[in-house]
Amino acid sequence: MRAKFAASEAMGFVASETSWSGELAATAAHCARTGQTLVISSKQAAKHARELTLRHPGLDVTIDGRHWASAVATTEAPTAESTLFDLDTWADLELSGSGAKRLLTPSLFVKAGDLDELDAQLAITGRVENPGLQTLVATDARMLQAKYRQGFFEVLEASQAKRFAFVFADTRQPMGSFDRLDGQRQLLTRFPGSHIVGSDVAAGTDAMVHGAGWVGIGASSGRRMEHRPGDPGGGRRSADYLPGTWVRPLMEMRSPSIYADWYANEPTPSCSKCYRRLESYQPNSADKTLLIAHNLHGITDFADEIVAVPESERAAWLSSERVDAFLRHGRLTGPNIDADRTLRMLCELDDPALRSTSPAGTKGGTRSDADARRGRRPLTRRSPSRQGLDVNWSSTSPFSRQGCAGRRSRTARP
Ligand SMILES: [Zn+2]
Repeated sequence: MRAKFAASEAMGFVASETSWSGELAATAAHCARTGQTLVISSKQAAKHARELTLRHPGLDVTIDGRHWASAVATTEAPTAESTLFDLDTWADLELSGSGAKRLLTPSLFVKAGDLDELDAQLAITGRVENPGLQTLVATDARMLQAKYRQGFFEVLEASQAKRFAFVFADTRQPMGSFDRLDGQRQLLTRFPGSHIVGSDVAAGTDAMVHGAGWVGIGASSGRRMEHRPGDPGGGRRSADYLPGTWVRPLMEMRSPSIYADWYANEPTPSCSKCYRRLESYQPNSADKTLLIAHNLHGITDFADEIVAVPESERAAWLSSERVDAFLRHGRLTGPNIDADRTLRMLCELDDPALRSTSPAGTKGGTRSDADARRGRRPLTRRSPSRQGLDVNWSSTSPFSRQGCAGRRSRTARP
């Protein structure tokens, strides 16, 4: 029999107290119930950890002091704390009394291509012995692209770190690029068991099935899409001042009013645990907290679905589920359908025919990552009589969860 919370080992959440009211408390309550790890990402993480572990005894907490979010690493000062104590002693002090089980190293942000700075940082953070201290590498998501990837991997490999935790940041959707998603898979192949901290659902679940030891999904858009130091603030657009809301059939995190538009005259999907139509939520604190609680259980249920699949079939199964979710966008009748870019890029990454996707599934898409295909055929190659994946790809019953992609036919329909 499957464990009640099978995903608890593989996926948890990252939350902070600053995003909006209720996020950290709701995430702590959820993780206390499921046994998932909560990463508290805050300059006052130790204080919050102390409060939350008192409220929820047994809550599994990792502290990230977010030193990386406001300062860039130099070769002279690659970490925030290295001069006062050695990091193992520092970790003992931070962890004692906080109730947290783990702590990320006080690494500063490594800019894309800053390999000397990364090397200097890992000379400190890669040598830690304290079992509660994890070597954090917080860097520009561009570091995963082909241009930087090889040097990045070589510096990681040369370090003494036993296991890494990575944060990948950018001005906008850090993993919304074919090249970066491909790079994340290569990273996890080279460094299996690494932790990915502060991911969106699409990139995070892909990491789960490609070798990550643990993935922390952001409880808010700010934690799902981390910015680099100095980047302009503000998260993804929120059309109605309600948080992005997880909808499993589409694998999207959009505001409820956007779903209402997309589904036009049809009812929006409802959650069996929440029993409320998406359009009924109002922009007040109580409803915001309910939506974030929905995201937490909805995303955890999705992770449970993934880990219920035999390990050798997970990547193919997830790939197939993503194609189904993408194709459902093409059946929506409302205006301005704009499928999640990371979802689209993952569909393209796994398409054996190297076809491109379009936001609506009905128009030709544009590609900014075409040069990243590692010399393979151009991605925009399509039959002129066909327009996008929705008519090019066949799919089994859209809501079926049976079988895996490897057995499904994806040949073009005449
Ligand atoms: Zn729900």
